[in-house]
Amino acid sequence: MKVTESVNFYQGLDPFDIISEYGSPAYVYNERILRERCREIKTLSSYAGYIPNYSAKSNGNLTLLKIIKSEGFCVDAVSCGEIFACLAAGFDASDIFYITNNASADEFRYALDKGALISADSLSQLELIGEISPGAKVSVRFNPGVGDGHGEKVITGGKKTKFGVNAEDAKTVADIARKRGMEIIGVNQHIGSLFMDAGKYFEGANALLDIARQFPSVKMIDFGGGFGIPYKKQSGEQRMDLEALSENLEKVIWKFNTELGRQLQFRVEPGRYISAECGVLLGTVNAVKENGGKKYIGSDLGFTTLIRPTLYDSHHDVEIYKKGSELSSGSELAHIVGNICESGDYIAKDREIPRRVAVGDIVAALDAGAYGYAMASNYNLRARPAEVLVRPSGETVLIRRGDTFEDMIANCVNVDILR
Ligand SMILES: *Cc1c(COP(=O)(O)O)cnc(C)c1O
Repeated sequence: MKVTESVNFYQGLDPFDIISEYGSPAYVYNERILRERCREIKTLSSYAGYIPNYSAKSNGNLTLLKIIKSEGFCVDAVSCGEIFACLAAGFDASDIFYITNNASADEFRYALDKGALISADSLSQLELIGEISPGAKVSVRFNPGVGDGHGEKVITGGKKTKFGVNAEDAKTVADIARKRGMEIIGVNQHIGSLFMDAGKYFEGANALLDIARQFPSVKMIDFGGGFGIPYKKQSGEQRMDLEALSENLEKVIWKFNTELGRQLQFRVEPGRYISAECGVLLGTVNAVKENGGKKYIGSDLGFTTLIRPTLYDSHHDVEIYKKGSELSSGSELAHIVGNICESGDYIAKDREIPRRVAVGDIVAALDAGAYGYAMASNYNLRARPAEVLVRPSGETVLIRRGDTFEDMIANCVNVDILR
């Protein structure tokens, strides 16, 4: 059985109808699955001061942000653009945590003016915040000395990363804060993206608590995101053990509150876990060919629509749909590639796919809701596809139109050419 069938992803709709209505490619999101993921994270702890933050960078579509807000989430923004989008989606400024790195004074001013909580990612950024806003109440992002993630590019704790203030500098943080009249009201961390076993996460959490102990003014502790999802469901990959994670989290919260004799606020900030699995990227097979004894399925899913395989060698399960008829049972190995003029443009390498895949079939890249559209580009002047929401009723709604050719040249300034 297909993964999408097992979760009723299309709510009874035919993907061919979705593509004929909204065009190919198209990002399709299932609202029910999005809400399920939100609830799993929301119920990790029943403690009143537990606040799940959604990391908006994984998918910043306003409709998804509104749904996530309606599930009781606050939100993390990594740029002023994301602050703007989160405000537009209806989040209160006080629900926004601006966790940036290497921000300019103007960017901090924007975030402070709006009323977002801000995080300083280095001693020099803390100084800068103190200069522009003496007396500010801020959080500091620490590097707990451990990292985890699906590849070097996304491990953000430990020795080999640009992120955070080192634990040894906690005293200097306190000195800077005293000098500028600032109050350190939070400590936060994010050790990396995509762990399936939360061992390192809690190692990092405990290291962060050691740091928090040094700041009597701390009211908020944010353990970060990075919660993994099983990208290889077709080969039986299991989900993360959320029950164990929840138990650990409750224990950590309870112990720390007891030790300090007061009730702190605790946050987690998953992006991918919330948005990945509710999204499928649908595309069309435009060509089938062989080269060097290898089969290539040529589709309209370039790395401008899903860059994770090209950028990180990431795996996305792929499904193929044939109009009106069943695919034959035999399978063969093929590369599934896109339409971008670079050899690194692929969605899946050496993937077992049904025989007789033909022009006109649909290729669906699963788990594309996180870092799919968010990392899409207009390279090769490819229009970014539309985003479509499938409601629990099976009704579809357009939640972002695709780019037009006009959109893609709209910011070019028409200058007289002198000669
Ligand atoms: C990217 C990011 C996250 C979310 O990471 P996921 O792997 O999508 O959960 C959380 N916090 C910060 C600071 C980030 O930069």
